[in-house]
Amino acid sequence: MNRSMNFVAGEWIAGAGWKSDINPGDLADELGSYASADGRQVQDAVDAARRAFGPWSACTPQQRFDALDRIGGELLARKEELGILLTREQGKTKAEAVAEVARAGSIFKFFAGEAVRLHGEKGESVRAGVEVDVTREPVGVVGLITPWNFPMAIPAWKIAPALAHGNCVVFKPADLVPGCAWALAEIISRSGLPAGVFNLVMGSGSVVGQAIARSPGVDAVSFTGSQKVGEGLRRDVVGRGARLQLEMGGKNPLVVLDDAHVPTAVECAVNGAFFSTGQRCTASSRFIVAEGIHDRFVAAVIERMKGLTVGYGLEDGVDIGPVASESQLAQNLSYVDIGQQEGARLAWGGDRLSRERQGYYMAPALLTETSPDMRVNREEIFGPVASVIRVADFEQALAVANDTPFGLSAGIVTASLKHANAFKRHAKAGMVMVNLPTAGVDYHVPFGGRKASSFGPREQGSHARDFYTVTKTAYTFCP
Ligand code: NAP
Ligand code: MG
Repeated sequence: MNRSMNFVAGEWIAGAGWKSDINPGDLADELGSYASADGRQVQDAVDAARRAFGPWSACTPQQRFDALDRIGGELLARKEELGILLTREQGKTKAEAVAEVARAGSIFKFFAGEAVRLHGEKGESVRAGVEVDVTREPVGVVGLITPWNFPMAIPAWKIAPALAHGNCVVFKPADLVPGCAWALAEIISRSGLPAGVFNLVMGSGSVVGQAIARSPGVDAVSFTGSQKVGEGLRRDVVGRGARLQLEMGGKNPLVVLDDAHVPTAVECAVNGAFFSTGQRCTASSRFIVAEGIHDRFVAAVIERMKGLTVGYGLEDGVDIGPVASESQLAQNLSYVDIGQQEGARLAWGGDRLSRERQGYYMAPALLTETSPDMRVNREEIFGPVASVIRVADFEQALAVANDTPFGLSAGIVTASLKHANAFKRHAKAGMVMVNLPTAGVDYHVPFGGRKASSFGPREQGSHARDFYTVTKTAYTFCP
């Protein structure tokens, strides 16, 4: 069995234990065995990052550009091979997986560019003869904790800006997907970074994640994952005075107005709710549909769902891969039951499927006749389960869309410029989509949400520097 180790202080080292990595679409396929760190190994990684920080933060932007550009180039060149690994490990279809690896490559290339872009300001003081400079400096050692749903792209959109802005990294991937994390770390290990600048510590959240969050040597933590874990980090990380960025769940609405182009509405709904097996924080889970189009829309969505192929992600013609884990599958199926107990109608799907290979397959589910107060419309399910809420008009649709603790992404399908603009202005979400699925975002612009979905500055695009740098204001007087 192939054993893959942690990367600490520039060396590959065994952990305190080993964890096996199983393909969710083919339970007979074991990808390998991966090291699990303990608290001491996390501390070694933090210490190595601290030692590396001084020289690394003083190296030239060109050195940072070169390393990031090399990592991005290799990801792009190997997107097919790494995409297959991603499908085997996480389940999403090969097309989705290859696109995710390419996205990770583009993110490294983008942040290579950020490393050599000027970020400062220089201006006059309000006092005579005094000049003011505003510059950005790295924060220090950053701990990066990531979920399993985008095992290449999310690590990339944290690691790349951290390094671009001169920080050192201690990276903990989700325990479900060490293979992608290890492959990425292996590429990073050959990119010319000095020892200790980048460290990989695989293992569980309760051991490795906690040790990162509580280590006084970690100046900042960026986390993507569930709201529950995020709230715990708020206590641990903010409580000790360190910087924190949280990207958490969503309960994203897709509003469909009477004047919507039905094929567009159906594509937005099916893509947004069910592609990537619904395991996207930006997935649509509430279709909020105006009365006049409701029945036509529901019938057309069901027709489209009947044509979707659920199966093994490496097979041709598959639209939806397996659910990523047994516990996530159980959660999805239980919400299908909860919805029906609350009075929803299961209009399509929602059952476990068997396939030639054993895995966690399920038919995407559509619940109709639901109301905004039902649990299926309030709690994040994180699977291919969507519900339909009938509304009278735009005003009611907007109110229902905003009636949620979350605020990540919100979409509307309409031909009305007036309603599209009003939705863009008044949706309480970090990202708004017009005639597009709620999921599927560009890599060069900010990403993030409001309310219970996010905490701290935005990720991605140039805005990422707000988290990964500290601002310094310097005054100079020449007598
Ligand atoms: P999760 O259970 O919160 O785990 C996320 C990461 O935190 C994992 O690496 C996990 O390790 C670690 N962790 C768990 N307990 C911890 C603790 N006590 N201290 C420190 N770290 C800890 O989330 P998930 O199940 O992997 O992912 C699904 C969630 O991610 C959904 O809620 C989804 O909405 C959210 N998500 C949000 C975004 C966004 O940008 N808003 C993007 C993608 C996903 P283990 O793997 O060992 O548990
Ligand atoms: Mg989890």
